[in-house]
Amino acid sequence: MSNKPFILSNKNEDKKEFEAMINKTMASFFRTTEDPSAFSGINPYVLRKEINDLGFLPDNGLGFDKTMEKVEKTILPNLLRTWSLSYMPHLHSPALMETICSELLIASFNDSMDSWDQGPAATEVEEAMVHGLLSLYGYSEGSDGCFTSGGSQSNISAIIAARDWYLGENFGLDVKKKGIGEEGKRLLLYTSEISHFSMDKGCHILGLGYDAVRKLPVDDKCKVDIEAFRKMVEEDVRNGFYPFAAVATIGTTDFGSIDDVKEMRAICDKYGMHLHADAAYGSGAIMSEKYRDRIGDLSLADSITIDFHKMFLLPISCSALLLKNGKKLSCFELHADYLNREEDEEDGYINLVGKSMQTTRRFDALKVFMAFQTRGKDGFDEMITKVIDNADYFWCLIKDDPDFIVPVRPELSSVVFALSDGDEINKKVRRRLLENGTVIGQTVMNGRVMLKFTLLNPNLNKSDFSVIIERIKKYRDDLRGEA
Ligand SMILES: *Cc1c(COP(=O)(O)O)cnc(C)c1O
Repeated sequence: MSNKPFILSNKNEDKKEFEAMINKTMASFFRTTEDPSAFSGINPYVLRKEINDLGFLPDNGLGFDKTMEKVEKTILPNLLRTWSLSYMPHLHSPALMETICSELLIASFNDSMDSWDQGPAATEVEEAMVHGLLSLYGYSEGSDGCFTSGGSQSNISAIIAARDWYLGENFGLDVKKKGIGEEGKRLLLYTSEISHFSMDKGCHILGLGYDAVRKLPVDDKCKVDIEAFRKMVEEDVRNGFYPFAAVATIGTTDFGSIDDVKEMRAICDKYGMHLHADAAYGSGAIMSEKYRDRIGDLSLADSITIDFHKMFLLPISCSALLLKNGKKLSCFELHADYLNREEDEEDGYINLVGKSMQTTRRFDALKVFMAFQTRGKDGFDEMITKVIDNADYFWCLIKDDPDFIVPVRPELSSVVFALSDGDEINKKVRRRLLENGTVIGQTVMNGRVMLKFTLLNPNLNKSDFSVIIERIKKYRDDLRGEA
């Protein structure tokens, strides 16, 4: 082993070495990010070969400088540049500067969230942020929550909590010990046909299977058809099934459409179902004074998924799950002599592992803390209101243009549209944009290929949209010419 410093510690030589490394890293970042486009446009086969040629594990370490050279030459230029104004395909945001600093602190300390003795202040910050979030979304006494790795994990955790609670309440089943029993095979979860696929994945993982996910049709605004929901549950109950949960999507991944929590609540109440609000996307709208009413009263839901790595502009990953009845989180509680002894908790040493699917877990709450402190209510209001305004502006810009079809007026910051030329041209235009560094989304609506802008970057201005519309039309014209 070389005697060069290799672990960041409080020793002066370690700090000096690290500072130099950070400076070199940032210099590489700055050198490779002059291009304003989102992507180099490199062909995947070419990139794959270049990456493989970098080698896997050299016999002798190259040291930091040589490693950084390789990274700068081959990897950094071909990463996606999320801050680019030409990047708008997914719910995938650039990161607020102060939260990149948080990441540096999170990794430097490398505290872990599972037990108090692995992250004392980390545990207390996460608890404080969870409490703030519970009250921001309208929950009161008795509610609880936990940070997770993302919306998928938050959703799946909510379904686990709902399943265990339902089988316990209705059949006295101890799912933790005995599994889901015969009754578990008749459980059904309801969610819209355009909801996120983590519901299907979740029901598979939970031993319920994809068939336990009942897909509700949506209306012309892409929201759950409430009458259809009512009828489907009624019929399923008549046929001897157990509807245990429903998911309202608060901002569908494609359209940003928002299901009616109040109407869904009424049906769930009638059948004793758990209502989950998948607000992975729409949770950010609560920060906008102008638009917050659009997401409805989420406190009517039994649980809420919040993603901070979407509208809130935090680095991946960062999400939280909130539960109105905090006791439902006990589905994750389990004591181990080596980790979270019961006597700890009696003395105030909270071990958060008891609320999570994960064991070792990142101190992601620091990013929320630093972003909230830095920006405040007004800062988030401004950023989030702007991206929603932008989506509506773009919609207005193309709605009367015969070259485009744009079926749904956006409620959040996504616009689904298509060139009126048909599927092939739309697909090819997207591909050609990608090859030239502009990355936009593609999806399908009613069997038709659609293009999509997911607008999360508050640096985008109205004037940028005419430029991209022109670019899209130009590629379409080129393709028509080539046909
Ligand atoms: C993005 C998204 C998810 C999944 O969240 P991840 O953080 O990607 O795991 C779930 N639901 C909706 C509506 C989403 O938009």
